[in-house]
Amino acid sequence: MEKYRRHFLKQLAGLSSIAGISGLPTLAQARSATSVKDIRLSRNNGYVRLVFDLSGNVDHSLFSLHSPERVVLDLKNTQMTHGMVDRVPANGLLRGIRSGVRNGDSLRVVFDLYDKVTPRSFVLSPSGDAGYRLVLDLHEAAEKPEAISKKNLRDVIVAIDAGHGGKDPGAIGRKGTREKTITLQIARRLEKVVNAQPGMRAVLTRKDDRFLRLRDRIARARDNNADLMISLHADSFPDPRARGSSIYALSIDGASSETARLLAENENAADLLFGDIAVDVDDQMVKEVLFDLSLTGTIESSLDVGGELLRHLRSVNKIHRKSVQQAAFAVLKAPNIPSVLVETAFLSNPREEKNLRSSAHQAKVAKAISRGITDYFARKAPPGTWLSEAASEYRVKGGDTLSEIARKFNTSASNIRARNALYSDSLVAGQIIKIPVS
Ligand SMILES: [Zn+2]
Repeated sequence: MEKYRRHFLKQLAGLSSIAGISGLPTLAQARSATSVKDIRLSRNNGYVRLVFDLSGNVDHSLFSLHSPERVVLDLKNTQMTHGMVDRVPANGLLRGIRSGVRNGDSLRVVFDLYDKVTPRSFVLSPSGDAGYRLVLDLHEAAEKPEAISKKNLRDVIVAIDAGHGGKDPGAIGRKGTREKTITLQIARRLEKVVNAQPGMRAVLTRKDDRFLRLRDRIARARDNNADLMISLHADSFPDPRARGSSIYALSIDGASSETARLLAENENAADLLFGDIAVDVDDQMVKEVLFDLSLTGTIESSLDVGGELLRHLRSVNKIHRKSVQQAAFAVLKAPNIPSVLVETAFLSNPREEKNLRSSAHQAKVAKAISRGITDYFARKAPPGTWLSEAASEYRVKGGDTLSEIARKFNTSASNIRARNALYSDSLVAGQIIKIPVS
C-alpha cells in the first residue's frame, strides 16, 4: 500500500499547479462514496468521448491547464479502483490519464493531452441498463481558419476620450470656454472622421457632458477592445502667451508604480491586465516583469502614434513641445492599449481659445489627428484587422490613376487611400502601394 501511495504521489508531483493532494481515502470517508465502475473511450469526428460509468450521481468540476495541455476532472466523494485509468487506450489526442485522491475523498483525474482541447462534461441519469454516467468530451481545437476573407477581418478600434466632463469642467478660458465642452466637440468630430476611414471604428468614452473617473475611461476603452486610445484635452497656463499643441505618452516610471498598485490592489488584476498574454506563472515578480515588458511595448507604440499625431498637428497649430512628452497621467495607463493624451491647444491663450471655439479649427484638428492615426495603423495595424491585410503590392506606372488601380484590383480608391495613408490621389511612377483585401 505504501509503495502504491508513493508511486502515486510521484505521479502527481508533475502537477505543479495542483495543490491540496492528501492521502488515500480512509474507509470512513469512503463509506458513501460513488465508485467508478468503468471508463469507456470512443473517438468521434472532432472529439474524444470518455464515459465514466458510476455507481451513483456525482458532483464534478472540470478545468484546463496549459503548457503542457491538461484537462483536470474532479469528482467529489468518488473512488476508483487503482489501475482503471491504465486500461484506457492512448490515442492521437490523449497522451495519458492519471488519477489521484484529493482532499481525502475526491477523485482527481488528469488527462495529459498532445494538443489544446475544449472540454465539455455532463452527467447522464440512469436509463435502461445504464446507471449514472459522467460524459467528458474533449473537442479538438478548431482547424486553422481558412484563407482570411474580408468577412472575418475586424476594424481597428480607436477609443476617443473627451477629457473632463460633468462636475469637472477642466480648464476655463478667459471667455469662459470650458475645456470639457471643447474636448467633447472635437471628440465628436474626430469620431466622424475616423468612422469615415475604411477599416476603422471609433468609440467615445463619453458622449455627453458627464463626469467619468479616469479608470472608467480606461475600462470603456478596454471593454470595446480598443487598439488605441486618444484622450483629448486643452491646456492651461498662468502666462496667457503659452500656446501650441502637446502630446503625452506614459512614462516608464508611471508604468512601474501603476503595476505595483494594480497588482497590490487585486491579486486577480493580472488576468485583467494581461488579457491575451499567456501568463501561466504563480511568481508575482515574474508577472510584474512580464507586465512591465508588455507595457513598455505599449509605451513604444504610444510614442510612435504620438509622433504621427504631432507631425500632422504641426500643419494646424503651433507645436508647444517638439517631441512626445512622457508623463504618468492615469488615463494613459491602459495596459496593452497604446494611449496618447493630446493637449490640442491652450485655452488660457486668448487666440487659441478663439481657435478652439471655431468649428473650422476643430475640424482641422480632428482631421490632423485622424491622419496621424491612419499613418500609424498603415504601419502597425494589429493582425486580424482589415488594415493589416494587404493582398498584394503594386508598382505605380506613369499615367496610372488611383481609381483605375482600384477598379483593376476590384477595390475602392478610398480603401487604397486608407491602407496606404494617402491624402491625395496623385501618384508617382515607381511608387509602391499596397492593395487591400476586398
Ligand atoms: Zn484637461
